[in-house]
This record gives sequence, C-alpha cells and structure tokens, in this order.
Amino acid sequence: MSKKIIVAGLGHGGIAVAALLSQQGYDVTVYEKKKEGTLGYDWTDIFDPSALGIAGMGMPPKDKFEYKEDMTFFPPSEKKSLQQHVPLDKREIKMERSDIYAHFIENAINSGVKIKYDCEVKGPIMLGNRVVGIHTSEGDFFGDLIIDACGMNSPVRLNLPDSLGIEKEVGRKERITIYRAFFNKASDCEVPAKFKVMLYAGGVMGISWVASEDEHTDLLMGRFEDFDINDVEKFAEYLREKNPRLGKEVIRGGQFVEIPVRHTLAVMVADGYAAIGDSAFMPVPLIGSGIANALKASRILADTIIADETDSFSAESLWNYQVKYYKALGSNLAPLECVKYLLFNLTPEEVDYCFETGILTDENITMSADFGKMSDLFKIDIKDLTNKAVYLCKKPELLKKIGKVGVSMAKVVTACASIPQKWDSQHVASWAKTYTNAFKQ
Ligand SMILES: Cc1cc2nc3c(=O)[nH]c(=O)nc-3n(C[C@H](O)[C@H](O)[C@H](O)COP(=O)(O)OP(=O)(O)OC[C@H]3O[C@@H](n4cnc5c(N)ncnc54)[C@H](O)[C@@H]3O)c2cc1C
Repeated sequence: MSKKIIVAGLGHGGIAVAALLSQQGYDVTVYEKKKEGTLGYDWTDIFDPSALGIAGMGMPPKDKFEYKEDMTFFPPSEKKSLQQHVPLDKREIKMERSDIYAHFIENAINSGVKIKYDCEVKGPIMLGNRVVGIHTSEGDFFGDLIIDACGMNSPVRLNLPDSLGIEKEVGRKERITIYRAFFNKASDCEVPAKFKVMLYAGGVMGISWVASEDEHTDLLMGRFEDFDINDVEKFAEYLREKNPRLGKEVIRGGQFVEIPVRHTLAVMVADGYAAIGDSAFMPVPLIGSGIANALKASRILADTIIADETDSFSAESLWNYQVKYYKALGSNLAPLECVKYLLFNLTPEEVDYCFETGILTDENITMSADFGKMSDLFKIDIKDLTNKAVYLCKKPELLKKIGKVGVSMAKVVTACASIPQKWDSQHVASWAKTYTNAFKQ
C-alpha cells in the first residue's frame, strides 16, 4: 500500500512537494482552511522563475507574467538614489498571486494530489514523540508523514511538544508587518524611477515602495512594529508630495499581513514531521521573499523522502532534508539577518551618508536582487574597501556598527557550516543552541 502523506496548508512549498511525491506514487492529501478559489492576495508577487523548474513545474502561460522592472533605492533624504541593473537572464517574474496558485494547483491536481478545502487544521496528533496525524475542523486525519505548510503561525508547529526542540515563537523584530494596496493613478506625469524603494522614508524605520504602473500605483509599507490605517493614511499623504501619481482611492488590496524575516528553524524535522516555507521561516530574512525558496526546498524534501527506501519518515532520515536545505539555501540566507540588524541600528542620517558617499553602490544594490550574493555586500574587495574606508573612518560610530555586523555574520556563517551531517538528537540539540545564539544581538 502506498504511504500516506498529509500536507497541512496549501503553502507554496507544500503544494509543490505534494505534486513531486504524488508523481512518485505516494498518496498525498492537502488540507487547506480557505475555500476553493479564494487563495492568495489581491496583488502581484515577484519571484525567481528558475525555482519553477527545480520544483518540476513549467513556466506559466506567457500572458500570465512579466519580467520585473529594476528597482531604484532611495535613502530618507532622497538626495541620491541607487539603481539595480539586473541582467535579463537573472530577472524575477511578476505574477498575480491568484495566477501563481492556479498554476501550482493545476500541476498538483494533474499529478494526482487530493485537496480538501474549507478544512482548518487545529494541531498535530502525537503518538509519543512521533507526529502521526492532524486534528482539523472536519475530524482527525492520520498519515505516515505530516508536511507542515501552514505558514508562519502554523497551528501544527505551535502545538508540537517542546521535547522536539522546534522553535515556536516569532519575535517582533523577526516579522515584518506589511500594508499593501494599489491606488488609483492621480496624474500622468513622468516619474524618474518607476519602481521606487525607500529606506526609512519619513524617518520611520522600515522599507516601503511606490511602483508606478500604467493603470495604478502600487504602495507597500513594511515596518517592524504594529501600525494601523491612520498611520498608512498619514504616510501615504507624506509620500504624495514627492510621488504625485499616488492617488487617494484604493482600487485593489488594502490589507495588513505579516512575513517572517528571521533565520530558518534550527530544527525543522521530527519523527513523522517536516516543515517547509513560512512555517520553517524560509523567506529571505531581509526582504521576505519566500516563494522561490519554498519551491526549491520542495525539491530537496521530495528527493530526501524518495531516497529513503525504508519509508521510515524518521527525524533521522528527514534530517538529510535539513542538511541539504542549509547547504543549498539556508547558509546563504542566514547572514542576511545580521544585515537586517545593521539596518535597525543605523540612523536615517547614516543611511543617507552611505548612499551619498558611495559606501553603498549600484553594484551592491544589484546584488540585492540575488539573495545568494547578498552576503557579497560584506566581502572584501580591496579597491572598493579603500574607497569605503575613507568615508567610514570619518564616522567612527557607523564604522563600529558595520564592524559589529561583520563579527556576527562570521559567527552565523561558522554556525551554519558546523551543522551535524547525521542525526543524533543530543548533537542536533547542541548545534541548534549554538546556531540560535549566533543571532543574538
Ligand atoms: C504582503 C506579502 C507580499 C509578499 N510578496 C512576496 C513576493 O513578492 N515574492 C515572494 O517570493 N514572496 C512574497 N511574500 C512571501 C510569500 O508569500 C511566502 O514566503 C510564501 O508564500 C511561502 O509561504 P508559504 O506558502 O509557506 O505560507 P503561506 O503563504 O502563509 O501559506 C500558508 C497556507 O496555509 C493555509 N493555512 C494557514 N493556517 C491554516 C490552518 N490552520 N489550516 C489549514 N490551512 C491553513 C493558508 O490559508 C495558506 O494557504 C509575500 C508575503 C506577503 C504577506
């Protein structure tokens, strides 16, 4: 009899791994709390299309996506901007989230995956230390493996016993609150930067963008603190002074949502359990892009499961998924959390200074389009470093902050490199502690 796999939540990684496993003869059912046809948000998303091939999917139809514009980054003063120059073959694609889901779901259904909509997962069913099923609004369901794709606040992860050593809480600085809406176009005036990304706009710690599209203006506000619609309105009013195309009427979106921007789980597997996507905190810890990472992880998880001929779905066999994930993705992502903490510690004036003196360059900003290279921001290039050093030495406080980040990045890189290659519960617990401590400020 084929082994039964339960996917909790129709997250991007979950639906992709469901398809890959179903193609190999596993009996896979996804349980999703939303109703059929209501998934996603009313806006577009950007992701690396190469991840589709990795997850065994083709490109979506040509009329369903376009290539993303290069972004232009602005510091609080907006006196100097920096421009991405992403080569054509490295460009991400922009797609409606509902079309992304439609593409993924079609692939899963064609692969034999069963999807049960309108079924809320409440938590895991445990037998000793093994996860053997899920409690849902429609009753209990049992499986040989539970793949947790329920997102950042997954009730499966949150209700696992502490003895499994899987982290639950997400600190305030580890999640970014986003407000996003498409506003009407208030003017036809030409804009110098079509996709404008602003750091600390209005002196507020956070990241925001104003993207001028043909028919509307896309506003995104991201902050590491709670904010409400009054703050959005005040901020939008402030932005309208420099962005006259930003109208006052919300035509799409207009929601607050949260994304985890922290290091991936130190332990993301247990007997009968594996987390993927936002439930395992896989988005880039600086900017929150998680779709491509979840897709890439789906291939690693599927390959690990298929390679385990014993079908034990034990922590020991699933640990290979975690090791390979860290090698391919996690170790590159983790140091970016240190860059995030640097941004927290900089003053708006220091951000302006980095832009205006060339401490940050177009090249650095272009690297930000490829997270795998973002840690290159802090790699040593003697000529570049000499230029930067001249300006950094004039600002000892800034130099100290950057130096501190360099030290914590080194700690994080060392911790990632020492991940145990084989499962041993004590060894893994001790590594998880070292890895987690490396991020402590
Ligand atoms: C505003 C915003 C913009 C973003 N923009 C981008 C972008 O441009 N590019 C990019 O790569 N990433 C982007 N992301 C991040 C991206 O959405 C996620 O990283 C990615 O979707 C992977 O998350 P996930 O699929 O694992 O989880 P989620 O997207 O959180 O999906 C979880 C699924 O589980 C379901 N679920 C949750 N709880 C339960 C339950 N109790 N029972 C049953 N089902 C449940 C949910 O309904 C949902 O379908 C953005 C996120 C947000 C919030």
